[in-house]
Amino acid sequence: MTDAASEPVIDLLCELLRRRSVTPDDAGCQAILSQRLTELGFHCETMQFGDVTNLWARLGDTSPVLCFAGHTDVVPPGNEEQWSSDPFEPTFRDGLLYGRGSADMKSGLAAMIIAIEDFLREHAEFSGSIALLITSDEEGRARDGTLKVIEALTDRGEHFDWCVLGEPSSQNSLGDILRVGRRGSLSGMLTVSGIQGHVAYPQLADNPIRRFAPVLAELHDIVWDDGNEYFPPTSFQVVDVRAGIGAPNVTPGELSARFNFRYSTEWTHETLQEKVHTVFDAHDIDYELNWHLSGKPFLTEPGKLINAVHQAVTELTGSAPELSTGGGTSDGRFISPAGVDVVELGPVNASIHKIDEHVRVEDVVTLTGMYRRIMELMLL
Ligand SMILES: [Zn+2]
Repeated sequence: MTDAASEPVIDLLCELLRRRSVTPDDAGCQAILSQRLTELGFHCETMQFGDVTNLWARLGDTSPVLCFAGHTDVVPPGNEEQWSSDPFEPTFRDGLLYGRGSADMKSGLAAMIIAIEDFLREHAEFSGSIALLITSDEEGRARDGTLKVIEALTDRGEHFDWCVLGEPSSQNSLGDILRVGRRGSLSGMLTVSGIQGHVAYPQLADNPIRRFAPVLAELHDIVWDDGNEYFPPTSFQVVDVRAGIGAPNVTPGELSARFNFRYSTEWTHETLQEKVHTVFDAHDIDYELNWHLSGKPFLTEPGKLINAVHQAVTELTGSAPELSTGGGTSDGRFISPAGVDVVELGPVNASIHKIDEHVRVEDVVTLTGMYRRIMELMLL
């Protein structure tokens, strides 16, 4: 055991890690958080949607509202035989704490609670409110979790201004990366119609592959944008093309294809769709195109929140974090559209979802200090 292992935040983390909260089962984690928050004077509200348990907790009834957000659910451990120790029995080895959810993201949750306790012990008076939005459905379908809570809050006119998500955002060392947004994802499902025929009599057929090829070449050659300060360039990728009927002497009558854009804030899904249709319509091609939008891009521009988080991280680690829009999805996609500035700051993500998931014990203690410093910078 290192010294850090005896810190209150590690005790709370271990308590959470012992709960087998495989998505969407909260397994009593939120009750542990609620109890501690209630003792601090928070009003705690459980929002149950289907088999998903959500917690909305708030201290204060004035604006601005600083909200910490996260999830109690974890991905399944996989083959438990492959773990070096029981995935639901927190185990210390060489300054690391092992357990499913240790990095994603029970460390974040424990750090938030202890940071709030520490902050309130020293500052009975502060301006605005502190809130927590915790779900048990981030790793699953994510339909009855954060999205529903945001809808319920919006319906009753309750709003928050700033959100710190405790997702494991760090890459190599704690606080090296702050995630401030993510790219949008838009898919196109294409059907090109032609006339099937004998390969020897092309004048009697209409080959959809020949129709589509120049359009595809043109779409590939387009420089959609150069990205911007926070986003990498928009990328267009074809993921599937199929047409032939399996016979060497028949040209097909139909072609289907699927492509995907990962797009920056230089575009909206509407302007991207428009542009693609313009390209198709300039060619002699009979096509149908259906669209699926999986997520709009979002970005929190530098302002009070980013500045405070940046400063807190720099003070506690000695080096400035990089702002990034990389990585997979998170519940930030549901929170940001409600007009909330969102930033993700959490532990190193190298072991998340893997066998032997772990976190550096010291990092959890430092993360607690970062969250507390963010409250001081935002609410005092
Ligand atoms: Zn997570």
